[in-house]
Amino acid sequence: MPNKMIERYTNQQQNHLIAGDQRSSSNKKCFTDFNPATGEPITKIDTGTKSDVDIAVKTAREAYSQWRDTDPDDRGRRIRQVADLIRKQKDELALLECLDQGKPLSQAELDMEGAAYYFEYYAGIADKIEGKSIPIGSNQVDYTIREPFGVSAQIIPWNFPANIFARGVAPALAAGNTVVVKPAPTTPLSALFLAELCHEAGIPGSVVNVVNGGGETGSLITSHEDVDTVTFTGSVETGIQVMKSAAENITDVTLELGGKNPAIIYPDADIDKAVNEIEQGIFTNAGQICSAADRALVHRSVYHEFMDEIVDVAESYELGPGQENPDMGPLNSHSHLQKVMNYVDIGRREGAKVATGGNVLDREGHFIEPTVFMNVSHDMRIAREEIFGPVLVVLPFDNETDEIKIANDTEYGLTAGVFTDDLRRAHQVAKQLKAGNVYINQWFGDTNQTPFGGYEKSGIGREKGLEALDSYLQSKNIAIDLDEKY
Ligand code: NAD
Repeated sequence: MPNKMIERYTNQQQNHLIAGDQRSSSNKKCFTDFNPATGEPITKIDTGTKSDVDIAVKTAREAYSQWRDTDPDDRGRRIRQVADLIRKQKDELALLECLDQGKPLSQAELDMEGAAYYFEYYAGIADKIEGKSIPIGSNQVDYTIREPFGVSAQIIPWNFPANIFARGVAPALAAGNTVVVKPAPTTPLSALFLAELCHEAGIPGSVVNVVNGGGETGSLITSHEDVDTVTFTGSVETGIQVMKSAAENITDVTLELGGKNPAIIYPDADIDKAVNEIEQGIFTNAGQICSAADRALVHRSVYHEFMDEIVDVAESYELGPGQENPDMGPLNSHSHLQKVMNYVDIGRREGAKVATGGNVLDREGHFIEPTVFMNVSHDMRIAREEIFGPVLVVLPFDNETDEIKIANDTEYGLTAGVFTDDLRRAHQVAKQLKAGNVYINQWFGDTNQTPFGGYEKSGIGREKGLEALDSYLQSKNIAIDLDEKY
């Protein structure tokens, strides 16, 4: 990959980025970052120790009051500049993400456009964070102001590394917080790149810090007594650990966790459109998306039509390394491939039928075929647990089946979809679905401007849109006595 910028991140060991400086681990320990398309090492990365985390949090703490008190229009202009820099270096960023994460280039480019837009969107909010005045009596003045928390910890997963960095860091900064980011150990590179762009845009180095490492480093951050708020995106199991560790210090948490998202296809739906949306909903990013369309509930009268079409399209997919912009790339790591294939085996053992796919490709890298299971029943594990891979399970339902009850009967509640020509039914079903986001006749209907988050075990709080600011601002009420003596 003859590109100077990419070489910078791949030819030498990558350190933490603290106060704008490269910083090695205090104990010199490091881990290897691998290319998921080949299984070959990309580079070595420092592992964050307690001392590294302490220094990063202290740096962010010391930078806090100055950043908070930076004029909001100035703060906004610098954040806006990050968006411009991301757009300017979009190609390099996208290539780096493909190399590290595995996704097709065109999808990585969309992620970078989305990342730029997060900075642009929240830049515009920096000078519009307003309180309210509350009428409590003629001798009183009462008003609220909204203040940042202080140090925001951002724990990032490996499925959308750059995009989720931007989704959390941009609103945190706009609200006046400083940040310590920990990317996932299999995809650390774009976070380092983006943090440098933040600094280049005029955001002080000590305001955006990155510490690398895995779960141990993550828990040192989330349990740190000087961290004021934690934004975590990842699995339910880790979310529980994060919440427990944050509880030690009563630290505020926002959790974006998993999903097992139902798409209900009624007989009057446009089946071509439903197939097209669900295909993208499950095979984009090789299904490694919390909001993936991973569970299709299809009315029996259109079940065979749906199955025929989705199998055709799954079989048309070309797989390859992300940089070659295939239809689908590899899974992000060997251990994740094993987890997904374990679910494929479970599905077979449970009596579901593989309609297409179900195999690992006989080549280097972590590739599995786009997979569709038919004859799936609701009590099977593959219908209830998050697989987080390109594996669609399709369940038929009849007129007498309570499809909404089945759709809602999981521990998750992230996204759901309704495909029908009847708008009245669409609204009625949407209201009954247990999900933070409902898509009608489409999938991935959310944008940077719309609130996103889960019910039940899918999470706490909302990312994206104006609602995300609630994770980064707290209200202070100020009550003034206007008694005559004044
Ligand atoms: P993960 O939970 O294994 O890891 C997520 C991050 O947490 C990584 O940076 C990891 O190093 C860190 N971590 C691990 N243990 C930790 C601990 N004890 N304390 C603090 N940090 C710790 O998740 P993953 O495998 O990277 O991502 C896949 C999961 O993320 C899926 O379940 C998916 O649904 C979910 N996800 C949710 C959303 C959403 O917005 N709801 C978005 C993307 C991914």
